[in-house]
Amino acid sequence: MSAPQLLVSRCPSCTLRYLPRAGPCPKCGSMEAQPLAIPPQGTVLAATELESPAAGWPPPHRIALVELAQAVRLLALVDGSLPPLGTVVTVRRDADTYRVMSQPTGGTRGGGVSEGRGARPPFEPPR
Ligand SMILES: [Zn+2]
Repeated sequence: MSAPQLLVSRCPSCTLRYLPRAGPCPKCGSMEAQPLAIPPQGTVLAATELESPAAGWPPPHRIALVELAQAVRLLALVDGSLPPLGTVVTVRRDADTYRVMSQPTGGTRGGGVSEGRGARPPFEPPR
C-alpha cells in the first residue's frame, strides 16, 4: 500500500468536501458526489474528555474536533491522552467511527511512547 489516505466526498457542483454520507450534498443538494482521497493528517481544533459518556461508550471517553487539510472537519475518538489544541494528528477510519492516536503529553516525536494506563479493552461503538 502507498501512504495512507482518508476517503471523503467531493461535490462536483459546488466543490464542497465532506465526510461520506448517504443523500445529497449538504450545501447544494447535488447527488453527484465523488470519492476523494485526502491525506489523513489534521489539526486538533478542540478536544475534551467525557467522564460520563452515553451508554455503550466506556469512560474515559476522549473526543477531538479535527480539521483535515481539505477543510473537512470531523469528530474523532482519541486513543491516548487528550491532545493539546493545534496538535497535528493522523486520522484513521474504524468502521463507523474516526480515531486519532495522541502522543502522551511531553512526549517527543519518535521518542518512547508509553501506553499510559495500559491497554484498554477493544472498543465497540453502539449500533
Ligand atoms: Zn454541492
